[in-house]
Amino acid sequence: MKIDPASVILLMGAHLLICGVLYRIAAYWLPRRGGFEDWGSAGILFGSTYLLRLHQGLDHFDGIDVVAANTLMQLGAMLVARGFLRQTGLRLPGDLLGSHRSLIVAWLAVTGAYLLVWAFAPNWQYVFFSTTLNLTAVGAGLIALVSIRHVTGGPRLRVPIAVAGVLLIGLAGLGMTRSLAILLNPVPIYQAPHAGLFFMVVALGLIVFSYVAMWIAFADVTRSLQQLVSLDALTGVLNRRGLSEAIANHFRRPDASPLILLQIDIDHFKAINDIHGHDAGDRVLIAVARVLRMHCRTRDFVARTGGEEFLIGCSSVRAEQALQLAESLRGRVGELRVELADGGRISCTVSVGVSMPVESEARWESAWREADAALYRAKARGRNRTEAPPADLAPMI
Ligand code: GH3
Ligand code: MG
Ligand code: MG
Repeated sequence: MKIDPASVILLMGAHLLICGVLYRIAAYWLPRRGGFEDWGSAGILFGSTYLLRLHQGLDHFDGIDVVAANTLMQLGAMLVARGFLRQTGLRLPGDLLGSHRSLIVAWLAVTGAYLLVWAFAPNWQYVFFSTTLNLTAVGAGLIALVSIRHVTGGPRLRVPIAVAGVLLIGLAGLGMTRSLAILLNPVPIYQAPHAGLFFMVVALGLIVFSYVAMWIAFADVTRSLQQLVSLDALTGVLNRRGLSEAIANHFRRPDASPLILLQIDIDHFKAINDIHGHDAGDRVLIAVARVLRMHCRTRDFVARTGGEEFLIGCSSVRAEQALQLAESLRGRVGELRVELADGGRISCTVSVGVSMPVESEARWESAWREADAALYRAKARGRNRTEAPPADLAPMI
């Protein structure tokens, strides 16, 4: 079967253009646009360029109009790369491609070089165009693969990003092989042997990429929704629901170690609200939550369980270590100087109650009550202090 490149390019161009427009529209409603917006723009650029090339005539490939079409495609490839930077939060040295400005600068630099090649070594213009385009695609794929480590949201989001990265590198490899074949055996580009097959594979690859982009956006939305229901909107630590999930997940692990709970309550917080206002109170809550999160280990979890109350779950620690952690957190909160809207600074203290180690999910609420009872004693004994479980329970620790 002979595949006609022009028909494949027509379908591929229309598909990319339609996908690109729909992605741009859909991106307006996404809670976080991530890379979806840039991939939409790239689809529009690639799609319209392919259609433009058909309009120009596939046997026409050395005019300034072809140079213009090719440079638009180059911009599309750079937008694909920037999509991964935006999706994953990775930054290249000098913020390369990250901002509009650096994207335009990089594109102008490549376009300038392309114009020089076109003016002074026209025979090399296709090789130059193909090499820069494919290298940009490889770069985009590598950005995707390298950035996976930065991505929060677990395998649900990392897998589609990795698939997209591998796909781009594969397509770029195919493109480079084809340019090399044309270099070694010069023939008109769209009449080269297997040109139809090549565009068929590229078209399939780009169709798969458009589905993978949707997969990434879907995984991202799911992650945002999950964060919305399990994180506290003000402080970003877990809320009650997130806490229950974290406890359940902890004890579901086969190697789950006992947990020790620290119940933390800001002292005289109502006075902070009364004297400095509710906004100042919110700033204190945010600052305290940040201190707790920063000074806990990654495997511990921090939750806001009430207005100015936090609960920390510490795993794999002995009772003395948990007490030490409680004391160190209390000290660090005491050192805080929270900046207010008027430039003034306020400090606060916390009281901490520590629970007995808890070995199972079924017993964690009673351990929470123990931590709460210890907290109550810390309050009764003057605040700004840490209390362990009562001595009659201590031998069990
Ligand atoms: P104690 O030392 O005994 O813990 O006294 P306290 O004043 O800290 O405790 P109390 O329970 O009397 O006051 C807690 C206050 O926290 C009352 C409530 O208005 C305030 N609060 C609860 N949630 C929020 C919030 O999200 N933002 C702000 N700014 N205040 C809050
Ligand atoms: Mg309280
Ligand atoms: Mg309080």
